Amino acid sequence: MLGLMMNMPLMISNLIKHADAYHGDAEIVSRLPEGGIHRYTYHDAHRRSRQLANALNGLGVKMGDRIGTLAWNTHRHFEIYFGVSGIGAVCHTINPRLFPEQIAYIINHAEDDYIFFDITFTALIEALVPHCPHIKGWVALCGHGHLPKSDKIPNLMAYDDLVNSHSDIYEWPEFDENTASSLCYTSGTTGNPKGVLYSHRSTLLHAYAAALPDGLNLSARDSVLPVVPMFHVNAWGLPYSVALTGAKFVMPGAGLDGASLYELFEQEKVTLSAGVPTIWLGLLQHLQANKLRLSTVRTLVIGGSAAPPAMIRTFDEQYGITVLHAWGMTEMSPLGTANTFKLKHLGLSAADRDKIRVKQGRPLYGVQMKIVDGEGKSLPHDGKAFGDLLVRGPWITRSYFKSTDGSPLVDSWFPTGDVATIDEDGYMQITDRSKDVIKSGGEWISSIDIENLAVAHPAVMEAAVIGVVHPKWDERPLLLIIKKKDMNVTREEMLEFMSGKIAKWWMPDDVVFVDSLPHTATGKLLKTKLREDFQNYKLPTA
Ligand code: ADP
Repeated sequence: MLGLMMNMPLMISNLIKHADAYHGDAEIVSRLPEGGIHRYTYHDAHRRSRQLANALNGLGVKMGDRIGTLAWNTHRHFEIYFGVSGIGAVCHTINPRLFPEQIAYIINHAEDDYIFFDITFTALIEALVPHCPHIKGWVALCGHGHLPKSDKIPNLMAYDDLVNSHSDIYEWPEFDENTASSLCYTSGTTGNPKGVLYSHRSTLLHAYAAALPDGLNLSARDSVLPVVPMFHVNAWGLPYSVALTGAKFVMPGAGLDGASLYELFEQEKVTLSAGVPTIWLGLLQHLQANKLRLSTVRTLVIGGSAAPPAMIRTFDEQYGITVLHAWGMTEMSPLGTANTFKLKHLGLSAADRDKIRVKQGRPLYGVQMKIVDGEGKSLPHDGKAFGDLLVRGPWITRSYFKSTDGSPLVDSWFPTGDVATIDEDGYMQITDRSKDVIKSGGEWISSIDIENLAVAHPAVMEAAVIGVVHPKWDERPLLLIIKKKDMNVTREEMLEFMSGKIAKWWMPDDVVFVDSLPHTATGKLLKTKLREDFQNYKLPTA
């Protein structure tokens, strides 16, 4: 027997309709790449999204067509999220920090019809034009006055002209909730980027889960500033979750340095922000150097890489700000876990709570997780056993866009490529990437644990641990360190500092001081490069 409830598809257009209807005067504020602050409301954003929908129809954009964006977080990008997906087309956000060849590959692979770009990327667009012959038009995200003067970009138009020349009378169509809504390519440290194709249904379910109190805890009383870019897994889904809750939305444009963020945080009374650890390091340095305090921020969401324990503690103890450690990936829309306490943890000592806080967190309802050994056998959730982390759920990818390699799934589970423990309470902790784990004499050593320990030394700015070939043990850990300016530490002092804090057989066989470490376009350590650089390194123990 079927239930008798209404069968209404989960549509992205309903989010902006809802925000307009019930939070129409809530503000959306953007720092514009061309300068100045732009301020309007959900009501205005909905109106402009409808104008954009008419404009896209006028350009001949149909359901399923892909529209690319190379853009910062601004109100225009926000309108594109809703206008493009709303008509049934696919909003394809592209990471401008990738190499131009990768960007051209992605645009061609996605078969984008139009590219909407911020004028700060004009030189990049000029370089892309010859490699993307099928693009029908290039839309600069600006008003008429800022249209780039370029004769190298064919069919160039100003976004505001395009939008303003169309009516705002538009009824959002209703269609199958499994229709593709947006597309984001993984940055991928090896091989070509792979396209993750989200649907209206997956986006809505993710938006609900993210807003929950043990998710990001969003409400109509929040002022939310995503530092995480809208070209990076839909800014972790925040544009959708704020529309769902009616939170004020503040977008930083291209100003991601500590000083610019601080100014916006204070001016717009931001309560919650989200970004990768490097961003918060920059902010922290700015606060400390200028003896500043954040007067309204209650939560900083940190994800993308492990939040350093020292940073979590500093924000908490010195600034009264909760760091919400979250984990996910492009293939997961991206949220998988968030780290919040349970009732029974509230009475714990600060030290015991710290031990929980450094973990990546508990799964949001909708995400299932398990860890398996090399043979695919499930491992216990005891907080000690670590193995490959597999996930499933309605906002997790089952196949890559136009992939010819078959499904990535293993028995209907998605292999995350992370190695993790899960404890009795469901808290997951990443110990490594599958390909970065060091295999010493058949046992696994977590490079991340050693790195976390190394950066706790006051003279260490950044650390990386890689496995280096060893004749007896196959691989042994090598620790690479960038020292802080004007600080010194020797190899022996470093090893002495670490001794006793990790298992003896996890201790690095050598320490090398370097001036820099390679990173990916999204700021993660590029260990493939490091392993290449040190492939012939001779350990003293070898
Ligand atoms: P994103 O672009 O959002 O970082 P990617 O798909 O590029 O997502 O990368 C996902 C990977 O980033 C994860 O598989 C994991 O290795 C790493 N990651 C994400 N969040 C965390 C975290 N909180 N702690 C440690 N690693 C993380």
